[in-house]
Amino acid sequence: MSERLPVHERFHSWQGEGMHLGRSAYFIRLFGCPVHCPWCDSAGTWHPDYIPENVEKLPVAELALAAQESGAEFVVVTGGEPAIHDLGELTRALRVFGLPVHIETSGGFAIRGDFDWITLSPKWQKLPLAENLAKASEFKLIVETADSIEKWIQKIGVHFENTPVWLHPEWSKRADAQVLRSITQTVKRRGAPFRAGYQMHKLYQADLLDPNSRPAAPLGGDPSQGY
Ligand code: SF4
Repeated sequence: MSERLPVHERFHSWQGEGMHLGRSAYFIRLFGCPVHCPWCDSAGTWHPDYIPENVEKLPVAELALAAQESGAEFVVVTGGEPAIHDLGELTRALRVFGLPVHIETSGGFAIRGDFDWITLSPKWQKLPLAENLAKASEFKLIVETADSIEKWIQKIGVHFENTPVWLHPEWSKRADAQVLRSITQTVKRRGAPFRAGYQMHKLYQADLLDPNSRPAAPLGGDPSQGY
């Protein structure tokens, strides 16, 4: 019998971030995250004020078939924190269809499954495991304040040498001059592997065109949320 995974949403869109920006992708957003970032933009996957009444538990065979039928070039398994789940059967099912499989993770949990691309976005609330830092295909640093980048360089910069490091303004700070300036200055001063990034799909509202997607539930670092 096919294993089931708790799915918050799954939809066909395009990758709005990183090295695969602009490519047709099928997203499987799994439920659950114990990391609890104060500005999480996927709070519907874990925050008590936003989680839906019912969470679908779907067979991995059904997810793989939907991804294949979408016609997308590759699949992105995201969350929540997808690595809290054993993804071995899901990645095997997707490979039957010849679909490349990517994961977006905080890196704080052992990754179970066979992935072609690992986007590691480190979080202070649950630091990445050394084994995940070593196998990241790209890093995505969320820039919350003007000193965010330097703090991450000091903490895990030794792993950045030959791996692209995307610098993304935290979405509620996307027009914050100090945050944006810190990204620009880092790219100008340091050059590779640092690259200025943005969540382009949010500008397009691309994900919402698929009826199986859910509206984003961003916390935006609002202390009144209790996080
Ligand atoms: S941003 Fe990612 S790691 Fe942080 S709480 Fe949200 S889903 Fe979890």
